Amino acid sequence: MGNIYFDICSIPLFLIILFVCYSRRMTKGNANHLFISLALISLITAVADLCIEIPQGTLPMSEASYVFCTISTYIYLIMRNATNVVLLLFLLHLTQTSFLIRNKVVKVLFSLPYSIIIILLILNPFFHNVFVVSAETGYSRGPLMLLLYIFALFYGITGFVYSIFCRRYLPLRKWLSLLSIYVLAYAAVFIQFFRPKALLEMFFTAVGEMLVMLAVMRPEERMDSEVAMLSWASYQWDLNNILRSHEHVQIIVIQLMNARETRNYLGDQKYNEYLSKIADGIRSVRWKHPHRAELYLERPGTIYLITESDDTLTEEEVNHLLVSVSEDVRKEVGMGVRSETRICLIRCPEDLNNAEDIVSLGHKFPKIENREKTVVMAGDVVTSKYLTVEMHAEGILDRAMRENRIEMYYQPIYDVRSGRFRSAEALVRIIDLEYGLISPGVFIPAAEAQGLIIPLGDVISEQVFRFVSEHDIDALGLDYIEMNLSVAQCMDTTLPEKFRRLQEKYGVDPGKINLEITETIYGNISGVMLDNINELVRMGYTFALDDYGTGYSSIQRINRLPLKLIKIDKTVLDEITTENGRTILESTMRMMQKTGKQLVVEGAETEEVVEALKEMGCDYIQGFYFSKPLPTGEFIRFIEDKNR
Ligand code: C2E
Ligand code: MG
Ligand code: MG
Repeated sequence: MGNIYFDICSIPLFLIILFVCYSRRMTKGNANHLFISLALISLITAVADLCIEIPQGTLPMSEASYVFCTISTYIYLIMRNATNVVLLLFLLHLTQTSFLIRNKVVKVLFSLPYSIIIILLILNPFFHNVFVVSAETGYSRGPLMLLLYIFALFYGITGFVYSIFCRRYLPLRKWLSLLSIYVLAYAAVFIQFFRPKALLEMFFTAVGEMLVMLAVMRPEERMDSEVAMLSWASYQWDLNNILRSHEHVQIIVIQLMNARETRNYLGDQKYNEYLSKIADGIRSVRWKHPHRAELYLERPGTIYLITESDDTLTEEEVNHLLVSVSEDVRKEVGMGVRSETRICLIRCPEDLNNAEDIVSLGHKFPKIENREKTVVMAGDVVTSKYLTVEMHAEGILDRAMRENRIEMYYQPIYDVRSGRFRSAEALVRIIDLEYGLISPGVFIPAAEAQGLIIPLGDVISEQVFRFVSEHDIDALGLDYIEMNLSVAQCMDTTLPEKFRRLQEKYGVDPGKINLEITETIYGNISGVMLDNINELVRMGYTFALDDYGTGYSSIQRINRLPLKLIKIDKTVLDEITTENGRTILESTMRMMQKTGKQLVVEGAETEEVVEALKEMGCDYIQGFYFSKPLPTGEFIRFIEDKNR
């Protein structure tokens, strides 16, 4: 009898692995399934190994022990060889390269050795050429056992060589632990070859699997465990591996447009339940290759589904899927939630073959012009200029900053009382060599995402100060230039210092610059902002509140800040045609004027609107009716002409 203590020790180790998998909810997703199978099969192998050894302790064996030992040997050989196969499959899944064995010929080649092993074992009771168990002498190998070893080696060596080759698909720590499974297994086989009674094999396997569980199967890294979907980081990682391996897949991006509101409405816990239900609904669709339908979640509410490329659904099928998912969920959550969904289907690499573009399209596709459409086929839109610019906003901004392609345009502002243009708003533009004129609506969010908003703000203020110093504002009839400040700039503790330096450098009187801050910053006005604003006012700058009517202004907040101007957003103007809208606008104006603040209305496009605004007693009007924002030279000519 061999040394069974190692086998005995391996059993609790496999049980711990299985327990940990369940308790850490590592039960969903393909890699988890395969890993659990691996641990389970290994456990059965270890138990079978033990069941072969124990009856051999007393020779000759009784009839019952003999049967028990023989059956255990069959189970052991079937399971032991299966671990090699499952381990290789696990490796392929972990590296996102399982498509390599999808080809029919490869599939046959892959399963052939194991099939032969099974056939040999089926024939063994008749020919006794793989192994024999005799009641007198116990277990002994037959001549064909060597063949079994050779076939087993096929999976072992393939797996080992492949895992070495897979270095680029895995972080070092994970790669080393995967290799360790093979190294430990070979070490055990080697030792057992010389000391057949050592029986180290299953113990070493358990140690290897334990290492993999600790270093590779880290659900906190891979999973968003609250909802049993893979995490956003895993999506990016897997996407890169897919592209690197040139696999053909389809990515379905499902954006829950009102995710934030739904979460606020349901609360975190219920919201997670709601997401899990949606995930279950998607999983329940009859995918042709269900093993590949992996779900990833980017919080708060974008779900990514990666499927085989021939699992392509028609637009109709996708719509159907959505309706059923959202309706079922609504019923189950039992609350008045209605998910507003937008879907994008990306064939990869046909539509896009670059991870950055795919991620970017997943974020931005709902912005494309045709907002009515629920389902967007990436192939139809990737060539649209709007989307291309949106998708490459970050690169465009980066290039513009490096090549000094940031330019300020100026939009004249009309003073109703004097009938002249008394000020102008500086509005930033990028002049891109490839895409032409690009508006801030596109690249300001990109600047925020890249942490470039402060450097961009610095370029803007530099240009505005230079403009004011280079042109005789007074002579043009302009009182001041309005400059937009982003929230990030307002939070920059060095802002007053920067302005002081610019003032000195360009010899500009602060009274010639009016700073626009947006209403939304009131939502999170902090000490730094207030200090900055007060300091800048002390230095002589004035402030305007931009986009009034779109954010969270309250009388108290407006009162607390030293504002000279209030700029009413153009969305408010859209209501001017209705009786109510007009009344609201009129009373807002009266209220502001009574508190000593001047009023600018933005977005006046027609004569009628301008006349109506004049009648209501508006102080300043800004809009395309007078002029669009103009490049410096044109702006100067415009003002010289009109203010003559
Ligand atoms: P904003 O500060 O409210 O600027 C007014 C926007 O309304 C400008 O868009 C202007 O072109 C547009 N506009 C003016 N009159 C009309 C009109 O009659 N009809 C229509 N449809 N639009 C009109 P723009 O230049 O695209 O800027 C958009 C936003 O980007 C700005 O809104 C501002 O929040 C931001 N932004 C622009 N330049 C800067 C800047 O230099 N710094 C910062 N931080 N933000 C800027
Ligand atoms: Mg503005
Ligand atoms: Mg505005």
